[in-house]
Amino acid sequence: MSQADRLALKRADDEARQASKRAMLLNVNEVFGPTVQGEGPHAGRRATFLRMAGCNLACSWCDTAYSWDWSRYERDRETHPTSPVDVAEDIARRGADLLVITGGEPMLQQPGLARLLPILRSGWGSGQVDVETNGTIVPNERLGIDLYVVSAPCSSSSSRRRTTWTRRTRSS
Ligand code: SF4
Repeated sequence: MSQADRLALKRADDEARQASKRAMLLNVNEVFGPTVQGEGPHAGRRATFLRMAGCNLACSWCDTAYSWDWSRYERDRETHPTSPVDVAEDIARRGADLLVITGGEPMLQQPGLARLLPILRSGWGSGQVDVETNGTIVPNERLGIDLYVVSAPCSSSSSRRRTTWTRRTRSS
């Protein structure tokens, strides 16, 4: 094998490692709290919020477009690739026993959430996890989410997708 071939192979290997590393990260828009959940079945509860970057819809009335609309907001500024361990530590440190995962559309990042939640639960006791979703992506049962709050896009939202599933709570 020539030196040029060896270098090309090494470069391809490095790129594959970097891609694999990036795939292990969560694209976080923001973590904030503790604060008070202002809506849904857990309104009034003390909660930490994890807002995921990216959405598969583009609702005209969206009030969190900064988490997905890269034509109006800077992706690099609004998206923070973060390891599940770092996200779990941040959430646990905030001290609320309710985590609300929102977006954007959190269900776009189920593989990352599947890594985050066991880490979080191992150091967080009996905390509860809610997901706020647009309902267009079927969640994996094994995520073990306690409550899904589905806000289905309406006909005036300019979004093409519609809710394709209904969900129940694990405990709430
Ligand atoms: S689904 Fe939610 S986050 Fe996505 S565009 Fe619509 S309102 Fe915004």
